Amino acid sequence: MSELTKNRYDPLLQVQKDAYRCGKCMLCKWIDHNQVTDTAFMNICPSGARFRYEAYYASGRQEIARGLLDGTLEYNDRLLHVLFTCTGCGGCQVICSEQGDKNPLKTIVALKERAFRDELAPLPEHQTIIKSMENYENPWQQPRVRRDSWMRRMGLKDPRKEKVDVLYFVGCTAAYDPELKRVARATAEILKRAGVSFGVLGKDELCCGSTLLRMGDYLSYERVARKNIELLGSLDVGRIATSCSGCNSVLREEYRELTGFDVEVTHSLELIDELLKSGDLKLKKKINKRVTYHDPCHLGRYSGVYDTPRSILEAIPGIELVEMPRNRDNAFCCGAGAGVRTAYPEFALWAATERMREAAGTGAKTVVTACPFCEQNLGDVKKPRLELVDILELVHQSMG
Ligand code: SF4
Ligand code: SF4
Repeated sequence: MSELTKNRYDPLLQVQKDAYRCGKCMLCKWIDHNQVTDTAFMNICPSGARFRYEAYYASGRQEIARGLLDGTLEYNDRLLHVLFTCTGCGGCQVICSEQGDKNPLKTIVALKERAFRDELAPLPEHQTIIKSMENYENPWQQPRVRRDSWMRRMGLKDPRKEKVDVLYFVGCTAAYDPELKRVARATAEILKRAGVSFGVLGKDELCCGSTLLRMGDYLSYERVARKNIELLGSLDVGRIATSCSGCNSVLREEYRELTGFDVEVTHSLELIDELLKSGDLKLKKKINKRVTYHDPCHLGRYSGVYDTPRSILEAIPGIELVEMPRNRDNAFCCGAGAGVRTAYPEFALWAATERMREAAGTGAKTVVTACPFCEQNLGDVKKPRLELVDILELVHQSMG
């Protein structure tokens, strides 16, 4: 490690109080005691549940932070495996904050950032994401010219050429994934039919940088975020609506923290909910399905949106909603976040399978979510195989 690197600011200094105050109560292993309805589904931490050593839980991560701060712990491959198998789901944060004013998630992010600072990261698999972001402004190594393929012949407006009230921020997954473009199309169709004045940036939309931030590459994230903030801030729109939960939390919370970015940001669900309540959107067609809802971590725990998706599902005629044992702020992560699906696909699939087993246990045949990234990962599960849909697809169908 170079002298320059060693002397650079240590991100762990910002979280040392939390790291030393962890009382090792180990409650961050489980969902809230009062929420347990099935002991087979009481884990809240995917990395701890999968690898079954304390190091993989938040308590162990706090201890790792103390060891690095004290100089009693050195990096090795196993330590890097521990750091980068955390999906950043925030489950530990919900439980720990109930025990006092502590924030293990901040420690986790600081640990990853420190690994970047100390030149032990990126992992080779994460290097691919970083390069793709530099070359194509998306993490999927997809050419920029294809970013608008989902909207061809839809006649959508460009907010730089025409005045619109809302920018629909599609996000990389819904824009590029051949299976998930249907979410972007459904959203645009709904907004059109409800008479919303909206536009899209098409080929010129940029990745929000969420994956870079959550996997600890703060410098690359900041480059992307500042570019995006400049572009989004130059538009004359009153609101930005996103399809992806990751985009939502980054645009909504992180950009504000970085630069004071103050354009209102909502998930597209929240906009649809308003249209339903105002009567501008009516759902008539019956959809006879028993469904369960998977709370995306970045929409639920990061942005506090729990009631809106449920109230939309209740407004769709014929839909019966059944809850999984782990729901709302006690939901179990799909396993994809923070670059985990790219670096550790087997672990991401294990977590997704756990979640789909839980969903199947409700008797529902359909899992509904509000995040293309979750849908992509849950969709990798072959057994149990359940139908997966985005809420907005159900809304679109129910409009008739
Ligand atoms: S991180 Fe929080 S919940 Fe977990 S052991 Fe430490 S104090 Fe307890
Ligand atoms: S953020 Fe999620 S995966 Fe990471 S330690 Fe906390 S509960 Fe476990």
